[in-house]
Amino acid sequence: MIATNGYAVDSPEDRFHPFRFERREPAANDVAIAILYCGVCHSDLHTARGEWGGTRYPCVPGHEIVGEVTAVGESVTRFAPGELVGVGCMVDSCQRCGACAEGLEQYCENGMTGTYNGPTQDTGDNTYGGYSDRIVVREEFVCKVRHDREQLAAVGPLLCAGITTWSPLRHWNVGPGKKVGVAGIGGLGHMGIKLARALGAHVVAFTTSPGKKDDALALGAHEVVVSREKGEMKAHASSFDLILNTVAAPHNLDSYLALLKRDGAMVMVGVPAEPHPSPAVVHLIMKRRTLAGSLIGGIPETQEMLDFCAEHGIVADIEMIAMRDIDAAYDRMLKSDVKYRFVIDMATIAEG
Ligand code: NAP
Ligand code: ZN
Repeated sequence: MIATNGYAVDSPEDRFHPFRFERREPAANDVAIAILYCGVCHSDLHTARGEWGGTRYPCVPGHEIVGEVTAVGESVTRFAPGELVGVGCMVDSCQRCGACAEGLEQYCENGMTGTYNGPTQDTGDNTYGGYSDRIVVREEFVCKVRHDREQLAAVGPLLCAGITTWSPLRHWNVGPGKKVGVAGIGGLGHMGIKLARALGAHVVAFTTSPGKKDDALALGAHEVVVSREKGEMKAHASSFDLILNTVAAPHNLDSYLALLKRDGAMVMVGVPAEPHPSPAVVHLIMKRRTLAGSLIGGIPETQEMLDFCAEHGIVADIEMIAMRDIDAAYDRMLKSDVKYRFVIDMATIAEG
């Protein structure tokens, strides 16, 4: 077994503390990874604090993992020790169903295995995520990182924030000539702006934080709307092909639906602890608009996104933190005070 340093909480009210546990020795198709950095997703907070229900404790979050391969099982051919790799939100799926066959393992009909909060495919045990210094993952769920090594920390957030925005942008065919809104300029939203811009769309950022206006433009937005200003919202009525809604709190969806043009879609990726107020169907009916949702992305499209980002020089804007500062980072995330993703430097984990 592989001795591993982690950080865990034992209940929704707990603070993070060191947690030592063991990872399995790599099986024939496994890749063993030394985790160098792990991004901090709002889903980590929702899960650790039990906001979605169903959290299994002890909980070791973290699904924006980047690191270096340390060993591979005997049948692994695509990875070798020393290579830089990433692991996102999933570490397993049934590999047999229609969704898995299409490379959409996140929608596995038999249930995918999350990188944390399990259950594993065989025993149903809990899985422990990237707030730890080692992980062992079957090779199908490991992605290659082709960025320069100095960029590695800022690549971490691509593994969730990047793919969760990339997948709907691609599914809804975002490209030149399309007007795309990104609501909520946090971890996901800031990647949504960068990716939509790189795909050639006209990008409008929606924020509740007027202080993020200049940043949103620097991230690549062509325009910025303060979503609490009714006049600013109305100026964009019936004009969007797609709005990507990453907001992590319940809010009025009607004011966004009214901004979609005929056949436009708003895709929800934020998962607030409490439901949104129900939208008025009239906004959907009158212009055949769609209200949709999207879950992370499959492994082939995660590799596609990583390669696109490497080619276009795209990484996340990050603030590096030490492992022991994770509770304070969560508190700041709740105040929308992150520019724009915390990343844990895993070299700090053994400091306690
Ligand atoms: P984040 O960094 O905290 O960003 C969320 C942003 O939402 C904030 O920066 C803020 O942007 C806006 N916001 C927060 N509270 C608000 C409020 N009360 N009213 C209006 N806007 C508010 O979170 P994240 O990591 O990007 O995650 C966003 C959500 O997506 C979370 O619920 C997370 O669990 C979920 N998620 C879903 C998937 C998926 O597969 N669907 C994957 C990953 C994460 P402004 O300051 O610009 O308003
Ligand atoms: Zn995430």
